[in-house]
Amino acid sequence: MGKELYADTIYADVIIDISHEALDKVFQYRVPFSLCREIIPGVRVRVPFGAGNREREGYVIALKKEPEYDVDKIKEIYGVVEESLPVESQLIQVADFMRKRYGSSMIQALKTVIPVKNREKHRQETTIRLAIDRESATKLLTEWEQKHRSARARFLKKLLETGVLSKTEAVQECRFPWKEIGKLAADGVIRIETKVAYRNPFPDLEQKENPVVLNAEQQAVADAFRGDFRREIYRTYLLYGVTGSGKTEVYMAFIETVLREGRQVIVLIPEISLTYQTVRRFYERFGDRIAVLHSQMSKGERSDTIERVENGEADVVIGARSALFAPVKNLGLIVIDEEHDGAYKSDRSPKYHARETAIFRAKIAKASVVLGSATPSVESFFKASQGEYVLWTLKNRAGNARLPAVQVADLREELHKGNRSIFSESLKEKMRGRLEKKQQMMLFLNRRGFAGFVSCRNCGTVIKCPHCDISLTYHRNGSLRCHYCGYETAYSRRCPVCQSPYVAAFGLGTEKVEAALYEEFPGIRVLRMDMDTTRRKNAYQNILQAFSRGEADVLLGTQMIVKGHDYANVTLVGILAADLSLYSQDYRSGERTFQLLCQAAGRAGRGEKAGEVIIQTYSPDHYAIMAAVEHSYEMFYEQEITYRRLMGYPPCAHLLVILVESGDESQAVLAAERIQKMIARSQEGTTVPVQILNPGRAAIGKLKDVYRQVMYLKHEDVATLEALRGRLEPVLENHPLFAGVQIQFDFDPMSIY
Ligand code: ADP
Ligand code: ZN
Ligand code: ZN
Repeated sequence: MGKELYADTIYADVIIDISHEALDKVFQYRVPFSLCREIIPGVRVRVPFGAGNREREGYVIALKKEPEYDVDKIKEIYGVVEESLPVESQLIQVADFMRKRYGSSMIQALKTVIPVKNREKHRQETTIRLAIDRESATKLLTEWEQKHRSARARFLKKLLETGVLSKTEAVQECRFPWKEIGKLAADGVIRIETKVAYRNPFPDLEQKENPVVLNAEQQAVADAFRGDFRREIYRTYLLYGVTGSGKTEVYMAFIETVLREGRQVIVLIPEISLTYQTVRRFYERFGDRIAVLHSQMSKGERSDTIERVENGEADVVIGARSALFAPVKNLGLIVIDEEHDGAYKSDRSPKYHARETAIFRAKIAKASVVLGSATPSVESFFKASQGEYVLWTLKNRAGNARLPAVQVADLREELHKGNRSIFSESLKEKMRGRLEKKQQMMLFLNRRGFAGFVSCRNCGTVIKCPHCDISLTYHRNGSLRCHYCGYETAYSRRCPVCQSPYVAAFGLGTEKVEAALYEEFPGIRVLRMDMDTTRRKNAYQNILQAFSRGEADVLLGTQMIVKGHDYANVTLVGILAADLSLYSQDYRSGERTFQLLCQAAGRAGRGEKAGEVIIQTYSPDHYAIMAAVEHSYEMFYEQEITYRRLMGYPPCAHLLVILVESGDESQAVLAAERIQKMIARSQEGTTVPVQILNPGRAAIGKLKDVYRQVMYLKHEDVATLEALRGRLEPVLENHPLFAGVQIQFDFDPMSIY
């Protein structure tokens, strides 16, 4: 990979100690000419270290053309450590890829990929056993009893009875001091064993034999994977299967194949589906070979888990985005479930996409990648249609379940008919039917941020957060809140600009829907799930479990409720306002809407009973909505890719966002203008120049009192954008003109800035 790029560099930054605390202690060495082809980021090297030039091993993290220290003091690398790539080397290469692709410092990238080591003590389990045979021990016991060494005797008697004692039993129950136990161990009478007690977050789960027999579609895919893997053909596969087609069962078949070959697996799932339900299925199949990483773990739990992975005790790692960097030594497969999910893009620098990064890691580890989705990202389907990924399709739901019937309720007509309620006539009717039959429903509102912004009907002023360029949201407890910075103020019925009393909250929030439900259907039992009701640890899980126990008729929520939950008794899904995500200025809004509608619809009819879906919308003719009604990904994709091609949006071209931030607005503006000029100048005379789109104030022009300027650079070729950013970076870092601003990059952004 890219060795030629580094061929003319002469200095290497090396880190000696690969722990989180030491990552920014970088030492520079000269690369001897004979090694300049071999030395790339990630390579392990032998170097002279310290005053005595003792030989130490270190890792190269970056290559430089210019020395950053006194040249005379720079020592030369002794050599390369000859050995298959250790996992640390792979992770450093991944960090280097992320730095180049997404724009961040190498240290930031390294801190993302290198696991934080535990300084919290492991909970250890100490056990004591006999080191001599029972006969000798019995003799010794008699001897001690005769000599009235009662504590010793008590201890040994107990040990003879039980065979094994814990430390507490020995010290407290036998009243025998730990120091004395140590002496007996030194004399060879007993053996003290210490074992780390790993904290298993799911201690009560049991492994089960797999009861599911793959159907023909599933089996064909599993066989194809096995065929490739056994022949050491490692590729990226897109498993496109309608909701409920049994993708998870297929992943498990893949995993079995990989484990049989003695290799390891990383499974990524969106954080929100990292619930008991999902993890339990894997656990039941693979038992203790599973290691789970999620964000609500304590540091100790996390680090225990990482250690089990490093030791090879666990060989299937399941986790959210960052589990991609789990230090598995012999990686064979990375599975990314719900690969279209926005959560796979990091929102902190480096703003990496887990999908692209996984493909890179798999390439250097010689491993396969499986991307799975019922509604693949446009990027992935595009790559599959170009032959870059292998496409596998599961067309049918597994078992007997059929796809639900989807109907549209045109909200414009409802209005004409005089129905001003949140619920269309058809939805109301179907809901009544479900209540009678005691079946469950899910109601879905697809954007919380829209909930009740407050404006003045007299002058049109929208009440905004004083720290952000965001309208405040009305909450039923009478407060106005900013969802970006947490600012909160009392709701006043007077316009701050014209003093008119006609100030009111508009739009639809989950709280308002909940109130309307109680009004429309007296006695209805509702569970509401949104950011407000899920703040506490486990709240999310508790709500879902209560719903699955049948404690509510309706589960009402934001997009949190649409993912990966199986409720056999849910036979109706209502999407209250499909349009809410459709008309943002964002190029991904059509895709996002289609995905949400399909995922939400996929929640209906997972069991024996048939499911129905009602989509309420003001724009029934929009292609994203029409395609969702038809359950037709292909119909959606054709329209969407045509639009992207026409506009030159990803995946047909690439976008690099440059975000310039400063507490001082004029500084941000000035810096952004300078950057724009620099880029424009650098493009003069090039045949296919990088285009600069929409430079100026960001859509959210102020956030937490920081002013934001933005520009979008567009080009078909990733490498051109990478090179441009690479040239820009040293100037932006070192020039005093940019001292007062923060500059961030984002490659192929998930949303508009
Ligand atoms: P997906 O991940 O594609 O939404 P799942 O793997 O969750 O689908 O499967 C949906 C349901 O169908 C699950 O309850 C699963 O146990 C069941 N299922 C999957 N494959 C089979 C099969 N071959 N035979 C019977 N049931 C199956
Ligand atoms: Zn006003
Ligand atoms: Zn704010």
